[in-house]
Amino acid sequence: MTRTIDGNAVAADVRDDVAECVATLEAAGVTPGLATVLMSEDPASETYVSMKQRDCEEVGIEGIDVELDADAPAAELFETIDDLNAREDVHGILVQLPVPDHVDKRRVLRRIAPEKDVDGFHPENVGRLVAGDARFKPCTPHGVQKLLEAYDVETEGADAVVVGRSDIVGKPMANLLIQKSPVGNATTTVCHSRTEDLAGKLADADIVIAAAGMPEFIDGSMLKPGATVIDVGINRVDADTEKGYALVGDVDYESASEVAGAITPVPGGVGPMTRAMLLYNTVQAASLQHDVEIDL
Ligand code: NAD
Repeated sequence: MTRTIDGNAVAADVRDDVAECVATLEAAGVTPGLATVLMSEDPASETYVSMKQRDCEEVGIEGIDVELDADAPAAELFETIDDLNAREDVHGILVQLPVPDHVDKRRVLRRIAPEKDVDGFHPENVGRLVAGDARFKPCTPHGVQKLLEAYDVETEGADAVVVGRSDIVGKPMANLLIQKSPVGNATTTVCHSRTEDLAGKLADADIVIAAAGMPEFIDGSMLKPGATVIDVGINRVDADTEKGYALVGDVDYESASEVAGAITPVPGGVGPMTRAMLLYNTVQAASLQHDVEIDL
């Protein structure tokens, strides 16, 4: 029987753990703080930031909400980051991506103090992750690892296929799966837009992590029976709904769930985990900065 991997339930457990860590930090005189920086008028980005602020409030993390005009000079964003780097009440900094075209994203990521880089995108943190000494694991792949762990999916010796090679999902995901550590030790193949014969790679995969941003392009006929399917994709497709669209994953859930051993739905799979792991990384940042031990 196919198991549905419930991201909402696992994320709720993570949030409970985070709330306990917040209490431990508070008892030591530390209120964890997360600054979100929004330099965009994109409604989706605005929604993501307000959700992150709401998540903080729920677990007792102090949210610091900074908004800049989308056409402000890049220097203003860099100065904002410098100020947040220097603030003692700010333990984590997240600049909502994408930033406007006139701002160099790589310079932004390098500007954030690595010890406050709760997204895990600073080159120092990327390097540490690859070296097997992660400070902060990027939220989405970290959330996927938590889901695999929560559902006792054996990764050791498994053949895993990651579909997508982005810096925020595909690459760190593959790096985590190959680490000699729990929820690692998988034989991992990374597929991307230039991969020939994706179906051939998927046919042998015990674990599929789909993160290509292509609506429902992986279907049940491409999967190995019993495979664990983690669908990271979130795609808007036209639909006869109130909003005029629906959200679907990269996987065709209906046909895939007839073949898979376990599968995440969209929504309600990876999405809530990404949000929860940001809170996790924030309390971890506060713990490291103040040398207060927490139980995560
Ligand atoms: P991206 O556009 O940066 O990367 C997509 C990757 O998919 C690229 O590396 C590309 O090579 C690969 N790709 C494209 N077409 C392909 C094909 N036909 N076959 C194989 N590979 C192909 O996207 P991203 O930021 O990594 O996000 C991927 C998806 O995950 C998007 O739908 C995004 O909305 C979603 N996402 C979800 C969460 C979450 O919390 N659930 C978080 C981040 C991203």
